[in-house]
Amino acid sequence: MLFNNWKENLEPIIKKYKSKKHPLLYQNLYQLLIMVILSAQDSDTNINKVTIPFFKKYPDIDSLSKSSIEEITTYISKVKNFKSKANWILETATILKSNENIPNKLKDLINLKGIGRKSANVILRENKMQAEGIIVDLHVIRVVPRIGLTPKYKNGNKIEKILMQELPYEIWNDIGMAFSFLGREICRPINPKCNLCPINIDCEYYKNNNH
Ligand code: SF4
Repeated sequence: MLFNNWKENLEPIIKKYKSKKHPLLYQNLYQLLIMVILSAQDSDTNINKVTIPFFKKYPDIDSLSKSSIEEITTYISKVKNFKSKANWILETATILKSNENIPNKLKDLINLKGIGRKSANVILRENKMQAEGIIVDLHVIRVVPRIGLTPKYKNGNKIEKILMQELPYEIWNDIGMAFSFLGREICRPINPKCNLCPINIDCEYYKNNNH
């Protein structure tokens, strides 16, 4: 491992991305919950588009819980895996019954259909709830082994476990999305723009390829 002072070395990307808005354009916790379920294996851009009429029709969990699979399907038919997702969001709305019952603990969030650790961590972070893990999406899975923080794993949960051991708790809420934004903008899959990267001096990939 290259870093011995995580907080200090990762500070430039935390600072750069801390106040950057999440790519899912939600207005409240209910909308975020539904959008993270719909966004699995789909693009944030598509989910932002599809959910405009959806949220007009279903402004809250209560209205959604009174709907049917058939009706929900008509609003999300352009979303990947929409049949399963229609079932998941209806089941979630039926269980929760109202916006006030949306959980604020990771263990309760991951009990909901269609919500894994990544989505639960996104919900906790976006709502400034107490961090219980670190967001690991496809970008983070690519970025952190390059930096030298973890071995190359495809499994996000395995990566998250190592990050939780290596990184101080006080940065958990911010660092996952910071890695993710870094991956979206700079640490691209092919030809990462290392010269523009705020943490390049501490990156293993950069050291191996530029020195
Ligand atoms: S220096 Fe390059 S490889 Fe390392 S994190 Fe930055 S963009 Fe990615």
